[in-house]
This record gives sequence, structure tokens and C-alpha cells, in this order.
Amino acid sequence: MAKTFDVGIESLGSNGASQAAAQQAVGRQPAAGGLLPLPLRGATGGDGAVTPAASAGKSFFLETFGCQMNDHDSEKVAGVLQGRGYRAVESPAQADLVLYNTCSIREKAAQKVFARLGDWKTLADGKIIGVLGCLAQQEGEEIFERAPWVSLVCGSASYRKLPELIARLESGGRRVTGLDLDTDQTFETEITRRDNLLRAYITIIEGCDYACSYCVVPHTRGPERSRASDAVQAEARRLADAGYTEIQLLGQTVNSYRDPSPRGWKFVELLRAVAAVPGIRRVRFTTSHPNDFHREIVDAIDEVPELCDHVHLPVQSGSTRVLREMLRTYTREEYLQKIAWIRAAQRPISITSDIIVGFPGETEADFAETLSLLDAAQYDAIFSFKYSPRPNTSAMHMPDAIPEEEKSRRLAVLNERQRAIQIAANEKLVGQSYEVLVDGCHPARTQWGGRTSCNRLINFTSPHVNLLGEYVQVKVTRAGPNSFAGEHVT
Ligand code: SF4
Repeated sequence: MAKTFDVGIESLGSNGASQAAAQQAVGRQPAAGGLLPLPLRGATGGDGAVTPAASAGKSFFLETFGCQMNDHDSEKVAGVLQGRGYRAVESPAQADLVLYNTCSIREKAAQKVFARLGDWKTLADGKIIGVLGCLAQQEGEEIFERAPWVSLVCGSASYRKLPELIARLESGGRRVTGLDLDTDQTFETEITRRDNLLRAYITIIEGCDYACSYCVVPHTRGPERSRASDAVQAEARRLADAGYTEIQLLGQTVNSYRDPSPRGWKFVELLRAVAAVPGIRRVRFTTSHPNDFHREIVDAIDEVPELCDHVHLPVQSGSTRVLREMLRTYTREEYLQKIAWIRAAQRPISITSDIIVGFPGETEADFAETLSLLDAAQYDAIFSFKYSPRPNTSAMHMPDAIPEEEKSRRLAVLNERQRAIQIAANEKLVGQSYEVLVDGCHPARTQWGGRTSCNRLINFTSPHVNLLGEYVQVKVTRAGPNSFAGEHVT
């Protein structure tokens, strides 16, 4: 990768070419080039049972924008709806209830949602149209002004109220909102629909207590709330019982986790406990804030084989001066110290990052420091973005905006530098073998795709059939900047 969900989560939902490359290489949901995605799995309920979609009269369609946090929130929202007897349908035209789970991290993402809403101007008749997520929180009741056919507006910090809001709509309510930010609870559901056959998400912390000057998340997702460790462990055990072997722990700042129960576990203690759940073979986590990234996390990765060899550690800028303006709370040197810990680990750990170019006042010298940081960090991939001013952020009115063309130029230079780093690094992996969890196939070409522990994407050939969901050894035969080709070692 050159988001989803912090892709990760900090880089929620940009749509640039580098983003596509990023997702391809070390990214989010499997998007192996030309490979078939996985089918839906169903739903995991509180008792661990796999529950088929309900078939009562009403139906819903839910489209998700943005990061992995949104993907997983949508799985939970779908679970709430299925628990109420709704069934999922493939197209909004077939649905009684149409929901958009939105992202507002960049202006483009917000525009896309309003375009979708516009489609319903003359067609909404009889349907309930709802807006969830960050844009709902950001725009609030103004959405009703811009799109009067919308009936439900609910920000992610209020999702625990969703069942009640939907019940009000079902009993004839015309417009309902959930826009509180003062909740101290997390969004727990009886049933969660699981959209990925192999990788299950568990949100361990919601909201954010940082205040990065470019970021809407503290406004849209509210203050930080961690889930009790026993609830997280219980969910991990249910997922293992349902057949999952890979878990991804999610949070905007996942490593800021603080167990609210009397145990008072830190993130690393929870990480080790989830990795110890019988049946779980891989544990990932995203996104880490550099300020809360301590050496003990690297020690845990070294000691616990189930913890994946990958850390996503967004830096955003290589210039300490810009980092200060961004309110990132660390310097270039402090960040590079953390990279040094990871690089000194006993097993190779891939490192990915998020970078913003064109922050207000970013000089050529600042940008040169970002380029030199790429050389120093030797990332396996980056998610790169042009700065985009957002409402309700302190950077919104900062002076010295960088012209759009200059931002584009810097983005291209940045991606070119990173591409060269990836080409050189990936070439060295040719001939090596990796364990791959197979998550896609191209039946016509007997080609398979999967991810290594370090989240590299390898497309490979195999004489075997029915490999989906299997862990296999694959030897790398060719390397590109964003992905690899290989052959099954049988
Ligand atoms: S405020 Fe900063 S730390 Fe919090 S989600 Fe936004 S970018 Fe991440």
C-alpha cells in the first residue's frame, strides 16, 4: 500500500490512486487483483451461533463508506436490523430501509454521500432513508434541510440508541436523530453480521481523546471509550467457536486502550489475552497512535506467534514543525525511535503509515523532511493524502493554504519516492516462503490470493483446489511494488 481505517483509521476513506494501491498491497478488505471476494458468512450472536438472515417482511440495504471502523459498525448495525426481523437485500431499490454509513474525513467522501441521497429525491416514496456515521454527526439535522426525504440521522457515538430510533420509525415516527456525543458507553449488539469469511473485527475502543488539528474524528465519534476486557475476550472466544482464525482489533487509537473494568489492563495485556484464545492463529490491530506505542508491544509481537508481523503507525509528516501544528504530540525523532524498536525486533515486522501532504504552511523544507523520513523509515507501504480542510477542525482556518496543484505535485513526488522504496525492498523477498491465509480465488486461472502475517498480498498458483480459508506455504517468484506472485509450496 502506498486507509481504512489511524485505515486505517486516521486515513479513513480517501479515494486517491495511492489509496487504491495501498489497499491492494497491505490494506483492508481483500481486494486481490481480479480475484473473487469472499461470500458473506452470516452473523455471530451473543451465544456464538451462526444466524441466517431473518426472512420477515421488511428489508434493508446498507452501504458503507470509509474505514474499517465503519465496515465493522455496519456489521453491527446489520445485526441490529436482522435481530428485528429485517432481511438484507442487494439493491436499494428492493429495500424498505436504505441506510448509508458515512465518512466525512475528506470532502470528496461527503459529496459522494449527498450525491447518493440526491438519487432518492423523487424515488424515496414509502422508503425510510437514513444517514449514519461521521457525516451524520458532522451535518446533524442540516441533512434534513438538504434532503427532506431522509428520516434517520444517527452519528456513530449514538449507535447504541439505534434499536430505539428504528422502533420509533417503525411506529410511524417521521424524523429521528441520534447525535449525542456525551455517551460513556460503546456500541454493543446482540448479533453482529459478519461480512468477511476469514477476518473478524472487534472494536476495543471507540472515539478519540487526541485533538489533531486536521481531524474530524473527535467531533464525529466523541471521546474515547474502551470496552471491558472480559467482553472483548468473550467475543474473541465466540468468533473462534464460529470458525474464525484471524481477528483484527479496531480503534481510532487502538493502543490507547485502557480496560475500564477492575482488571485495568493496558493494550498490550489485552493483545496477549486475545492471541491466547484457542483457535485464533492471527491477531492484527489498527490503528496505533505513535504516542501510545511502547516497546512492550514489539516485545509481545516477538514473543507471541499469533500476533501478526505488521504495525500500522501513522506519522502524517516528517517535519517536527508541521507535527506541532498538527497537534500530533510527538517529534520526528521520537517517532523514528519507535520505528527503530520495530526494526530491531527478532522477526521482521512490516511497517505502514499514513502521510498528509500540503498541510497549511508546509514549506518545501518541511516536505523534504517528509521525503527523508520515507528513506529513514523504509515503510513497506504508505497511505498518502492531500490535506483537505474539514469543518469543526482547528486547522480549517489556518493561514498559508497550499494551492491544490502544489499539493498534487507533492503527493506525486511522495508516492514516486515510496514506490522506489517498495520496489527495492520487495525484490529482496523473491525466493522466500511465507504462510498465507487464502482469501480469494480466480477459478478460471486456478490462481489464488492471500495475505501473509505481515499483510503482504500474494497471488499464487497451486495444483490444489478448495484452498479458500486454508493456511498454505507460498514461495514468492515475482515482486511488484504493491503485490507479489508466487507458487504454492506443496
Ligand atoms: S484526532 Fe488524531 S489520533 Fe484521533 S482519530 Fe483523528 S488523527 Fe487519529
